[in-house]
Amino acid sequence: MRILITGAAGFLGSHLSDRLLADGHEVIGMDNFITGSPDNIAHLASNENFQFYKRDVSNYIFVPGKVDGILHFASPASPNPLSKSGYFNLPIQTMKAGALGTHNCLGIARRDGSRFILASTSEIYGDPEVHPQAESYPGNVDPVGERAVYDEAKRFAESMTMAYHRFHGVNTGIVRIFNTYGPRMDLDDGRALPNLLKQALLGQPLTVYGEGKQTRSFCYVDDLVDGIIRLLYSDEHLPVNIGNPVEMTILEFAEAINRVTGNKAGITFMENARSARDPQRRQPDITRALNLLKWEPGVNLEEGIRRTVPFFKQKLGLS
Ligand code: UDP
Repeated sequence: MRILITGAAGFLGSHLSDRLLADGHEVIGMDNFITGSPDNIAHLASNENFQFYKRDVSNYIFVPGKVDGILHFASPASPNPLSKSGYFNLPIQTMKAGALGTHNCLGIARRDGSRFILASTSEIYGDPEVHPQAESYPGNVDPVGERAVYDEAKRFAESMTMAYHRFHGVNTGIVRIFNTYGPRMDLDDGRALPNLLKQALLGQPLTVYGEGKQTRSFCYVDDLVDGIIRLLYSDEHLPVNIGNPVEMTILEFAEAINRVTGNKAGITFMENARSARDPQRRQPDITRALNLLKWEPGVNLEEGIRRTVPFFKQKLGLS
């Protein structure tokens, strides 16, 4: 297949590019590098099955020739209010990538009869009142809340995707991605894993926000990519959660990082700068992924951290 990936220089986009190239497909990558990095795709420069275009997908995009698949992964995605590449500091671009970018990609899918996959997010559930979150839960999002630029852009993107499916018959799919980690994450985007793993490798205490009782469910990137590829190859139209259902508190997560890295500096509890906008619990119900795609994650947290360490050491100049 010939597959267009927007956000190809991002954390997930670059891993998806690798996997699709390994499966024998041709990949057309797009990215404007506002949050993605050329380093993530540098190793693909000499691959004759990979073409790259530096583009902002919220503007009109032209792709020469027909594409069989489109993965729309372009968007700022870090919730850290202090990060330059987080969506708090790129609010308009975030809304445009989700709204106009999705519309542009759907236009290409309609033209070419392609299978289209939207990268959606667990954040469409907001601060959830049901637990774990199944796809049938419509979410708890404040449209004028501080995370809304991301949450509502993705919610709009899901609606637009379903409109193209129902009205134009486009073969669309929607993946709701839960917390994911692995090599090629941006070390400075302020998310839990990059912050804490960086601190651990530098022998510093880990900064846990609040009392660390808030929960998350972390999925290793290779597992996530496998779930997305299965969705691409399927013809499922309704949203599918892809994430690891093993839920833990952020304190337990930090302790696992200290254990795997042998960091003796312990944990520092900090005031949660995100407080009101930090969801308290998050865990995917992956029944649909299991039934429809025969997918479930296979890499446990400690193994995933071990696989991520070499990339972090290299970026930190420690190896
Ligand atoms: N967190 C933390 N210390 C950090 C960074 C994050 O305790 O240095 C917490 C954060 O408050 C949140 C959780 O870790 O409860 C996950 O944050 P992340 O930024 O990875 O993504 P989110 O799940 O909030 O979208």
